Amino acid sequence: MRIRFWGVRGSLSSPITHDQVQAKIRKVLELASPADILSRETVENFVENLPFSLKGTYGGNTTSLEIATGENHDKIILIDAGTGIRPLGNSLLGRGRMKGNDELSIFFTHSHWDHIQGIMFFTPIFIPGNTISFYSSLPDIEERLRYQQPFTHFPVPFDDTVMAAKKIFHTFGEGESVQVYDLTVTSKAVRHPGGCYAYTFTNAQGKKFVFSSDTEFNLDTMDDIEQYIRYYQDADVLVLDTQYTFEESLQKIDWGHSSAAIATDIAIKSNVKKLILFHHDPTYDDNKMDAVTLQALKYKDMMAPQHPLEIQTAYEGLQLEI
Ligand SMILES: [Zn+2]
Ligand SMILES: [Zn+2]
Repeated sequence: MRIRFWGVRGSLSSPITHDQVQAKIRKVLELASPADILSRETVENFVENLPFSLKGTYGGNTTSLEIATGENHDKIILIDAGTGIRPLGNSLLGRGRMKGNDELSIFFTHSHWDHIQGIMFFTPIFIPGNTISFYSSLPDIEERLRYQQPFTHFPVPFDDTVMAAKKIFHTFGEGESVQVYDLTVTSKAVRHPGGCYAYTFTNAQGKKFVFSSDTEFNLDTMDDIEQYIRYYQDADVLVLDTQYTFEESLQKIDWGHSSAAIATDIAIKSNVKKLILFHHDPTYDDNKMDAVTLQALKYKDMMAPQHPLEIQTAYEGLQLEI
């Protein structure tokens, strides 16, 4: 299966600012030497070797992921409908998908704004003939989505004929599994204000992808950690909420999010192959995210130098194949 990240920001979308772009340009010019700009090739090489925060951006859109599965990667499953689902919808149309008489499935972890507010800007939902299957362990996900867009807040109600795609709702209980295309999807409740669910996606070859955003692990909640370690066990890729630095997480107990340090501990204990740091705080700029990444890598090397765990920070456009 192929996983692509379209929105990685937590809580609120946070576009890069004019001043931040200018600061990047100044810094890059300071770093460049005459030899770096001799030819197109030297420029390419120079850009390639810049820190991530200078050559790109982690992105400001809120949670939205795309899983392409099946023999030809032609079966599409989305996770959550944060603002990242808007460019995701446009990309699908650009690839000739969801133009009518097509289908996809969306899994919802919970209904905080940053996970649902993009659905009204997901163009495929307005196209007649499309079928969208909504999955969640929230028994009332349909009501929650409808509740998001009364006429006072959005001109088109969720049930309006203008939102013309056929909508089918499937709910399944905590700990239960559903089969979607070639993937078995199992849910687990995680600690988060108002409730939230993690989902594992496992294919017939045993490849396992776990999505566990909006999940709080802190030093006070380690008593019941074993059940989560079993749930995450041997994942090829684990996306885990790491909204805060460790220091900040100590100030924000019960806010519903974790730090990269605790996520790394849990990923090592669960024998995960690759940990993806996710749900970045909207106040963290690209420089800070570079520092968070570096700190997580150092922490892993200090705590478990022999463990093969890889750590990567999610950014818009990141694509993984497992
Ligand atoms: Zn969130
Ligand atoms: Zn949340």
